Amino acid sequence: PESDHRSIQLRIVHTDWPAALQEFRHESLPVLPGDDLDQRASSANQVLLSCREFQWVYHLPPSGALDASTIRHMSLPRCGVNDLDSRSAWKDRVDSMLLGRAVRRRRRKRFSHQSGKWYKRHLTYRVVNWPRYLPEHQVRQAVKAAFELWSNVSSLVFWEAAGDPADIRLTFFHGDHNDGVDNAFDGPGGALAHAFFPRRGEAHFDNDERWSLDSGKGRNLFVVVAHEIGHTLGLEHSPVRSALMSPYYKKLGKDFVLNWDDILSVQNLYGKPPRGSVVQLPGKLFAHFQDWSQDLEGTEHQGGDHSSHYCWSFFDAITMDLEDNLYIFKGGHYWIVSKGGNATGPDLLRAMWPGLPSTIDAAAFSEEDGKFYFFKGGRCWRYKGSSLDAGFPQKCSSTGDLPRHPDTALYFQPLHHLVLFKGPKYYMVRGESLQVEPYYPRSLKDWGGVPAMANGALTRHDGFVYFFRNDQFWKFNPDTLRVVESGKWASQLGWLGCQDAALNQAVV
Ligand SMILES: [Zn+2]
Ligand SMILES: [Zn+2]
Repeated sequence: PESDHRSIQLRIVHTDWPAALQEFRHESLPVLPGDDLDQRASSANQVLLSCREFQWVYHLPPSGALDASTIRHMSLPRCGVNDLDSRSAWKDRVDSMLLGRAVRRRRRKRFSHQSGKWYKRHLTYRVVNWPRYLPEHQVRQAVKAAFELWSNVSSLVFWEAAGDPADIRLTFFHGDHNDGVDNAFDGPGGALAHAFFPRRGEAHFDNDERWSLDSGKGRNLFVVVAHEIGHTLGLEHSPVRSALMSPYYKKLGKDFVLNWDDILSVQNLYGKPPRGSVVQLPGKLFAHFQDWSQDLEGTEHQGGDHSSHYCWSFFDAITMDLEDNLYIFKGGHYWIVSKGGNATGPDLLRAMWPGLPSTIDAAAFSEEDGKFYFFKGGRCWRYKGSSLDAGFPQKCSSTGDLPRHPDTALYFQPLHHLVLFKGPKYYMVRGESLQVEPYYPRSLKDWGGVPAMANGALTRHDGFVYFFRNDQFWKFNPDTLRVVESGKWASQLGWLGCQDAALNQAVV
């Protein structure tokens, strides 16, 4: 079918374009039935902008034109995964955008790496292993979200194949791992990860990196996983600096979504989502995976955007004081939800409790002494109001046999003790001395139905203990020692202050 040649006027937002770009203004572009003209215009405009962006990065004259020198710089080797075809792949995309149709992918040279695509739309994946210091549920959630970035803008569908053979496998390795000397990992820093083009379905991550999901320290696993998934789908590196497929690893921005070049790349291979429209996931859903805390510090209390940020994903810890004020901890911030369900915050953890680390593992308010207890790594902190008790922080893992990196802390009223939960075990802890009582730890089975690795727990004035993990809650009856109810906390527990947020989330 021939395309209908209609002229569209590109929307030029800058008036200072150099003469070299003028031709684009009056260019007649072929328009295909169903083309979104506004989108086309702004996409073409983005090509110009991103050209200038690339030239700026490489200290070339920012003409915005794809001249020989620019193209040569685009082919310079930049990172671990082979870049041989990145340039031609990108040129294809630019051509396809300006010509308004998909350009057939170039035949690969025999000596070049096995690039290609998958010939099915439904792909399975498996997380083979992960660093022991990252909680399993967080890793899986991050990996799932990373795959969703791609499936939301293409016809691809992914699902996790637990234990079964899978199309795409994500594995963490130390050093040499039998795929060639060039691919041996180099310890902390340097190469972080690499992946193979279709249809080998392998992405490898350097186990010697310090991977993180939310603290901002170390390498952000979500970003790197999303980038490597792109390679396993057949995507080359992008010269567009803000693209996920840029070889430069970067921190996630607050409004992180795939760049237009990422979207074009995956759609050139697999087409658009079935419903025809591109779904861009709101960045806030992924905000958990970036160093959101530092971001906030610059724009403290700017509007209500972050007022209920904790509602979107999961939190680090939760507790309740004597006045039934709820404290919700996430990253370097906390929120207070009043008895009526009104959330205030976020405020900086360290502003309220000076001396705390940038993030915490667990927190509990003790009704016994009216003090806040915080746990991080092997250390613990105790505050009366904002003042740190003398002798704190302590190395509680050695002085009191407390578990390192506890999942959850809870003040358990019936026994007047603090309880620390870690994996399949729990520890009964004496508040004033922070010593584990004799005969502990014991198995979590004592808490009938409570899941391992909860994010937080608290006792409410109704006497029930609530456990939280990811978006779920479990309501525990301390008299019968059984879970009596469970569900989604953001939508079902009004006292967590997420009613509005839960509504918004349903739309996504
Ligand atoms: Zn490898
Ligand atoms: Zn790469």
